[in-house]
Amino acid sequence: MEDCITDLSRLPGIGRKTAARLSMHLLKMKKEDVRRLANRLTLFRENILICKECGGLSEEEVCPICKDPKRDRHTILVVEETKDLFAIEQTGYYNGLYHVLGGKISPLDGVGPDNLHIKDLIEKVKSGEISEVILATNPDVDGETTAVYLAKLLKGSSVAVTKLASGLALGTHIEYADELTMLRAIEGRRGL
Ligand SMILES: [Zn+2]
Repeated sequence: MEDCITDLSRLPGIGRKTAARLSMHLLKMKKEDVRRLANRLTLFRENILICKECGGLSEEEVCPICKDPKRDRHTILVVEETKDLFAIEQTGYYNGLYHVLGGKISPLDGVGPDNLHIKDLIEKVKSGEISEVILATNPDVDGETTAVYLAKLLKGSSVAVTKLASGLALGTHIEYADELTMLRAIEGRRGL
C-alpha cells in the first residue's frame, strides 16, 4: 500500500492524500480492471514515441501527419504541447505541418528557450521549404513571451511569421477552444 501511494504521488498534481485515496479506490476495484489499467499504462509507455519530425506523440518514428503527402509542407504551426496539436487537428481546419515546443518559456518555472525544441524549428525554417510559421502558443503571459521570442528569432528569415487571431487572445486556451473559435483564430491570423 505504501509503495503504491509513493509511486502515485510522483505523478504531477497528485499529493500523498490523493494518492492514498486512489490506492484505496484501486483496492475496491475488480482485480481484472486493475490488471487492464496496469497493462494499458505499460503498453502506452512502451508504444508511444516522440515523432522525430514534429515532436508530437506517435506510434512510429515519424507520425502520420508528418508522413502525409497531402498536407501542405510549406506551413508550420507551432504549439506548446501535443494536446494543443490534437485540439487543432480535431477541428479539421488546418492542413499544414506542426512543431511541438514541449512547453513554453517560463522564467518562474525555470524553463528557458534552451529547454524547448526551438533549435530544430529554426533548422526546419532554414531548410528553405517553409513559407509560413504560425505561432499558436496559448494566450497567457508565458505563451505570449514564447511567441514574442520566436517572432524575434525568425525575423529576418524569408518566412512569414503569423499568430493565431482574436478569439484566442481573449484568454481561451487552445485545448479548450471550440471549433468556431479555432476556425476564426486560424483564418484571422495576422502577420507579426
Ligand atoms: Zn510528426
